[in-house]
Amino acid sequence: MRESCGVAAAVGLQASTLVYRMLRALQHRGQESAGVSWLDGRIQTRKGLGLVDRAVNISELSAQATHAIGHVRYSTTGSSTLEEAQPMDDGTLSLAFNGTIANYMDLRKELNNLLTITDTEVILKVVSNYLRQGYSVEEALIKFSEVADGGYSLVLLNLDGEVAAFRDPTGFRPLAMGMVGETLVIASETSAIEQVGGTAIRDIQPGELLILSREGVRSFRVRREVHTCSFEYVYFARPDSVIDGVSVYEARRKLGELLAAYHPAPAEVVVPVPDSGRPVASGYSARSGIPLVEGLVRLHNSLRSFIMPSQELRNAVALDKFGVVKEAIRGKKVVLIDDSVVRGNTLRTLVKRVRQAGATEVHVRVGSPPVTFPCYMGVDFPTRGELLAASMDLNSIANYLDVDSLDYLTIEEMMRGVGRRDLCHACFSGIYPLKGFYPRTHVDLTGGRGECQA
Ligand code: SF4
Repeated sequence: MRESCGVAAAVGLQASTLVYRMLRALQHRGQESAGVSWLDGRIQTRKGLGLVDRAVNISELSAQATHAIGHVRYSTTGSSTLEEAQPMDDGTLSLAFNGTIANYMDLRKELNNLLTITDTEVILKVVSNYLRQGYSVEEALIKFSEVADGGYSLVLLNLDGEVAAFRDPTGFRPLAMGMVGETLVIASETSAIEQVGGTAIRDIQPGELLILSREGVRSFRVRREVHTCSFEYVYFARPDSVIDGVSVYEARRKLGELLAAYHPAPAEVVVPVPDSGRPVASGYSARSGIPLVEGLVRLHNSLRSFIMPSQELRNAVALDKFGVVKEAIRGKKVVLIDDSVVRGNTLRTLVKRVRQAGATEVHVRVGSPPVTFPCYMGVDFPTRGELLAASMDLNSIANYLDVDSLDYLTIEEMMRGVGRRDLCHACFSGIYPLKGFYPRTHVDLTGGRGECQA
């Protein structure tokens, strides 16, 4: 499973440096490549492979530019080459987006002279074609939304000094607007705006298109049923972000409380899998009364194994990124709390190390349901065969992980924890809220447990 990307934009003073700084604050959403485009009479783009600091030399950014966009990438289509890094710029438009166009192969068939296999280039060409036919930038993007299926939060810069920010009508990925002084900013997450000293004003609504220019902001809206990605709350987003009015931190804590209420474990200490499992573990500890101990330490310079491009690298990262505090867990019955389990490679390694450190029992509780289906809306999950829960039942997974007991939240409990019912849960349920993809239409969201009352 691979992380989606992050986008940022600014209109006003210090636009390009603000975008650069917001990208650093969004680094958890993509570490393969980064880039910034700005306008100084023409569109200039600097991008490179690796983390933001390495990919873009801040001294090369224009201090005078008042319009800029940027991107951090993990590839969901294409590979990790410089040509496929974003923003993608054709001289008249520059585009950066977070998501996946599920029907991009169909759209590709209508296009000529494509240089890459990315959906970014497909969006750029489709929008450029509409602009060449005389449509305005807002009309071109809205027409694009009529032919595109999938998840896309995008930012676009044109030669006329307009920055567009568009969140797809289903609202799969987050996108927020704020101010830093007098400068209008856009970012994938509110925390990135606040990190650079700004104020997050509001979410861009699902289907909302903003055109930012020196004259102000124009807003347009395409309406469709909303299904925001539940995984943003469970794992992707920073805990200090707020998505559609819901605090990611509070959602994760509530997931932990429900986990303790419905899936208790006979443990003496609660150990979070850092970092994203920490708020879930804190909710679990508060509700169960079992003390929380920091039995695992995450190395500060470690990468997220989720966003590493190969299984070999992911295994190496899983081994390298944690230390075990033996004094906290020796001789104890431990419940390890993780936010999610995809392949199980990291968790299996951790269980082994916790046992080696002297835990007498190791139980695992997971703050989301079993991941059993791939994602076509911006997250590059492994194939179904690589998803731990796709081919194994609970007992088999517990055996594979070598744990004394294992349990997950149900989909119903997860939605209750987040406090939203308009969530996408396709990777848990197989019900895809796409325009043209309906392999399943109904599952029991309670996993046979019935409605939860907590
Ligand atoms: S399938 Fe899963 S990861 Fe993809 S958008 Fe839906 S909830 Fe998010």
